[in-house]
Amino acid sequence: MEQKIKISFFDAKEYDKDSFNLANSNDGYDIKFYDTKLSEDTYKLAVGSDVICIFVNDEVNQAVIDGLVESGVKLIALRCAGYNNVDIEYAFGKIHIVNVPAYSPYAVAEHAMALLLTSVRRIHKAYIRTKDFNFSLNGLTGFDLHGKTVGVVGTGKIGRIFIDICRGFGMHVIAYDKFPAKDSEIDYVSLEELWQSSDIISFHCPLTDENRHMVNKDTIRKMKKGVVLLNTSRGALIDSEALLEGIKERQIGAACLDVYEEESDVFFHDFSGHIVEDDTLARLISMPNVIVTSHQAFLTKEALTNIADTTLMNVKVFLEEGRCNNEVCYKCTKLGNCTQEHKAKCF
Ligand code: NAD
Repeated sequence: MEQKIKISFFDAKEYDKDSFNLANSNDGYDIKFYDTKLSEDTYKLAVGSDVICIFVNDEVNQAVIDGLVESGVKLIALRCAGYNNVDIEYAFGKIHIVNVPAYSPYAVAEHAMALLLTSVRRIHKAYIRTKDFNFSLNGLTGFDLHGKTVGVVGTGKIGRIFIDICRGFGMHVIAYDKFPAKDSEIDYVSLEELWQSSDIISFHCPLTDENRHMVNKDTIRKMKKGVVLLNTSRGALIDSEALLEGIKERQIGAACLDVYEEESDVFFHDFSGHIVEDDTLARLISMPNVIVTSHQAFLTKEALTNIADTTLMNVKVFLEEGRCNNEVCYKCTKLGNCTQEHKAKCF
């Protein structure tokens, strides 16, 4: 009897199991779902698997890569777009990596706007008040988005949709991208100008070594007083301590965070009834002008279906053809000199 392909699935949530079991009904892979995250302590669960499937907070460092290779794993299938949690340079030549480059950019862009509207119209406060039959309006004064300047950092798939949404609100959009889109109608400015001119700043770029803590105490000082920061990208783009100081000094008017730099031990878990160890996160959450969602921006039915379908398609194509268009390769992404342009194996 033909052996089924084995997939070890880390950091599995109920909604993952539902969407992957549905998508797997044709392929019939042997998927083992593990609640635990992938780390140096847990990679041994993958011994004997052909593929591992991981998400944003699974840690794939050098020791984990060596362990996976020794365990016979041939493919790391990321069920997300970002891969900052994977040492792709070290993985090159040892183990292949595929990702889901796009599953629903609308989900993330719409969540960013939902956070912005919630914040500027104080919906989070009003919701709690009216639940308690408190119909007072004191302290709920917001501001119009129409006519405000929004600075968008990163104008890829999500950033562009967010730009379109903002234009629909009559906002003036400026943007910064390390690789600006050619022939677009986007008004690109320098980062300096974006910090200085924006009433609202929204982040839609990947996290790299170069832009870690791009929002820090120096850049916060350059921003307009009362600026609203939206981060649905990656937590470490913002230095959380500096953010907290900026809020305390009233320099930052509001922050909407779907991601947080130390999120991996906290987000996706229920800590109600527990003492939260992270003082910075606890203090941020206690602020009336901070809204935190726990890496939820991607979480729509459409996105979950696309993630499961694309991940299993990546696995199938890779195992059948030994290559995949969605391969994440150190040479293409970091050096920008992929000679094979995904038409052949990356190594
Ligand atoms: P994308 O690759 O389509 O676009 C990213 C853009 O950022 C590109 O235009 C690129 O040129 C630009 N960029 C790269 N480095 C930059 C830098 N240093 N400064 C400014 N711009 C830079 O990616 P996308 O699909 O639009 O996703 C954007 C980010 O959103 C992802 O990297 C990921 O971190 C995040 N994301 C979050 C969630 C969530 O649930 N919160 C879900 C999906 C993606």
